[in-house]
Amino acid sequence: MNFDDNPQEASFRATVRTWLDANAPTKLLPYLEKASFATLDLGDYDAYAEAKAWRKKKFDAGWACLAWPKEYGGHGASPIERVIWGQEEGAYAALGGLFTIGEGMCGPTVMAYADEAQKTRYLPKLASGEEIWCQLFSEPGSGSDLAGLRTKAEADGDDWVINGQKIWTSGAQHSDFGILITRTDASVAKHQGLTMFFLDMKSPGIDIRPIKQANGQSGFNEVYFNDVRIPDDQRLGAVGDGWKVALTTLMNERMSIGGSMPTGVPEMLALASTLQLESGPAIEDRALREKLADWHCRANGLKYTSARLTSALSRGETPGPEASIGKLVAGPMMQEIAMAALDLQDLSGMMVDPQEAALSGRLQAILLRSPATRVEGGTDEILRNIIAERVLGLPGDIRADKGLAFKDIPTGR
Ligand SMILES: Cc1cc2nc3c(=O)[nH]c(=O)nc-3n(C[C@H](O)[C@H](O)[C@H](O)COP(=O)(O)OP(=O)(O)OC[C@H]3O[C@@H](n4cnc5c(N)ncnc54)[C@H](O)[C@@H]3O)c2cc1C
Repeated sequence: MNFDDNPQEASFRATVRTWLDANAPTKLLPYLEKASFATLDLGDYDAYAEAKAWRKKKFDAGWACLAWPKEYGGHGASPIERVIWGQEEGAYAALGGLFTIGEGMCGPTVMAYADEAQKTRYLPKLASGEEIWCQLFSEPGSGSDLAGLRTKAEADGDDWVINGQKIWTSGAQHSDFGILITRTDASVAKHQGLTMFFLDMKSPGIDIRPIKQANGQSGFNEVYFNDVRIPDDQRLGAVGDGWKVALTTLMNERMSIGGSMPTGVPEMLALASTLQLESGPAIEDRALREKLADWHCRANGLKYTSARLTSALSRGETPGPEASIGKLVAGPMMQEIAMAALDLQDLSGMMVDPQEAALSGRLQAILLRSPATRVEGGTDEILRNIIAERVLGLPGDIRADKGLAFKDIPTGR
């Protein structure tokens, strides 16, 4: 792969740079450059309002949802153009977290399965950030084994009545709409009795309870459904075809999470370059230098793996199970690096306040967030199973419930 811009790419980069220079919210840059990993502290500015305002500005100029077709509010950009946009948007991209699930997972699913009137009604408002979307898949008893879900949808006239509970629903407390996978038939095998819908998150009977995390934030929620009604015309795909529809969402999730992952290497290098140990400057410590070299090699392996995925997309290919490798390597590496960084800082490593901690507490924030990275969008073990079975061709995991009707699968209840 050639990493230099060709003339067309150079011209696209110049257009992006000119627009960003004229429009990016520079007042936020000092906060964004210091922002802790996966958090958005903008001082006295309202982070939610600023994120929405930046999104709307991008949308009005045609720079929101780069991969989407123009008729639904996107830009119709090529994979390489998306990479160039990401490189140029830089720190301002941190304002986009609120919209990731809508843009990367819900939107593509609605685009594939809703009717034309619904696409025209919902997608541009999702793209502009006017309406926020969430993904209601996981349940207390079904995360990795998503097809084991129990939230029930029962037909009642032209509606479906939903009862059950979802969990780990990112951003549900801010969301206007969500995509929801339910069980509509327990008499068939678990993957066959599922049906997908989209719904208004303000519908009567929905109870959203934020979950408090170790880092003090509440990124995700429990969502309870008590006789919530969804009109049948908000069904995505045929009754019983929910698994097929969910695979559209999950494939987009893999590409949206697994493409290019932060690793903590630049932060660790910055820390090592400034920190004084009792023995002298940290950067001169031989044991640390050996580790830095190892992390640098792994981070470059990830960078070029991600570049290979971009090349495959440019050739019109769909990245397969090999896209799982990025998160599987980056997640544990982030955790390892952040732990080493806190060890290096000795007792001051316990400080998490961005005003006091070294590097604005970014490595502490990485440590607190990294376990989530190793779980979201497929745990390490599930990714290893995917790579073992579908890349290396090793024997499959034991699936004791294969072929059984869902209602006959033994449970502890
Ligand atoms: C930051 C974050 C955001 C999330 N956002 C959303 C969201 O917006 N919407 C949503 O629906 N969900 C969301 N999730 C939930 C996520 O999809 C699940 O947490 C994930 O699928 C794992 O499921 P689980 O937590 O039930 O763990 P389990 O599936 O119960 O796994 C528990 C342990 O068992 C291991 N295990 C399970 N099965 C196997 C197997 N076959 N072989 C080997 N080991 C196995 C796992 O690796 C893990 O270590 C989010 C999670 C996180 C961390």
